[in-house]
Amino acid sequence: MAIELIEKEFKFGAKNYLPLPMVMVKAKGPHMWDDQGNKYLDFVSAYSAVSLGHCNPRLIKAFYHQAKTLDVTSRAFHNDKLPVFLELLTHLTGFEKALPMNSGAEAVETALKIARKWGEKVKNIPKNKGMIVCFENNFHGRTLGAVSLSSDPQYQDGFGPFLPNICKLPFGDIRQFEAVLNQNASHICGVILEPIQGEAGIIVPPKGFLKQVEALCKQNNILLIVDEIQTGLYRTGKLFCHQHDEINPDMVCVGKALGGGIYPVSAVLTQNSIMDVITPGDHGSTFGGNPIACSIAIEALKIMVEKDLSKSVSHKGEFLEAYLRKNLKGNPLVKEIRGKGLFFGIEFTAELPAKTVVKKLVKKGLLTKDTHESTIRLAPSLLISKKELKRGLDILIKTLDEILNEHENLS
Ligand SMILES: *Cc1c(COP(=O)(O)O)cnc(C)c1O
Repeated sequence: MAIELIEKEFKFGAKNYLPLPMVMVKAKGPHMWDDQGNKYLDFVSAYSAVSLGHCNPRLIKAFYHQAKTLDVTSRAFHNDKLPVFLELLTHLTGFEKALPMNSGAEAVETALKIARKWGEKVKNIPKNKGMIVCFENNFHGRTLGAVSLSSDPQYQDGFGPFLPNICKLPFGDIRQFEAVLNQNASHICGVILEPIQGEAGIIVPPKGFLKQVEALCKQNNILLIVDEIQTGLYRTGKLFCHQHDEINPDMVCVGKALGGGIYPVSAVLTQNSIMDVITPGDHGSTFGGNPIACSIAIEALKIMVEKDLSKSVSHKGEFLEAYLRKNLKGNPLVKEIRGKGLFFGIEFTAELPAKTVVKKLVKKGLLTKDTHESTIRLAPSLLISKKELKRGLDILIKTLDEILNEHENLS
């Protein structure tokens, strides 16, 4: 059955993905099952969207209840859930206003549009001259605006022309940012960055880098936009990953886990003085802020607060890091372990492609995701029990030991 379904998918679908050859049919909490009855521990969590576990009963209940009460209204009318969602989200995050969208890429587009308009209307940048600064190896989504920021040749090849006035700098190099400011500060409206680059392979910036970027943005009247779509909502043990660096961005993009991972809900957060450049008719989305999206997001945020995720994720994250470091220390195939909270990458040396590791782990019942040739990503459910977390890590450690033995036998 799996083969037939996979063939059908490739026959009738665009080939924009190349998934592993399993067909998932069921999920619960940190687990998924394929159509052959195999059970997997999921350390991918839909790229950290399914932060509250699969088929979380409270989210499903909120979804079901709202879907049969009031579904989608469009923003031509008010609905009784959007104001509650906006109040909860802004109170929790400390921003004055939120603009709801659906996918993460749309939140990024929204932030870029707000920054450009703020640049012209508030900073008085001449018309069509606003510049955006971003950092190499970023991932901000797949729309044309988002891929205009990308430094990955595959993301851009054939899709041009791209947005003009984009400046891409090495992530972590404050000197180059200063050099660009010396030339162009008066024309730059926004700087966008991920506090930890997720798709790039869990790249943590050098200590102090975010703080320096923040200071330079303030000095030069430039909006600092932090993309927390993957890192936000307690993934790294704090509400926002940038709080580890004690910075206060002007705009934050959230998505993925905001809809509990089961419904596309994203948002841009900012203060009144910035959001007020957007007036009726400037920007919108048919589904953005719909009652189903809002009800699910309200429940997701409530669960996050009630479960005291900040504390439990930090605790589990410390365990994960210490356990991996201790048990992988002697493995020469492991080059680096990096991350925060329940968001970690393991980079291997050139002899061991990440994809090989991912495929072996699948056979042992652990789902992970390779990113760039050399790194696997770990992002289990934030609600995973310590026992299941340890079970997953043990599978990983044992598998890497076995791979090492095979390598040694070969050489
Ligand atoms: C996933 C992701 C996006 C894009 O979100 P989509 O919902 O896939 O459009 C943007 N930025 C970051 C950092 C992401 O991880």
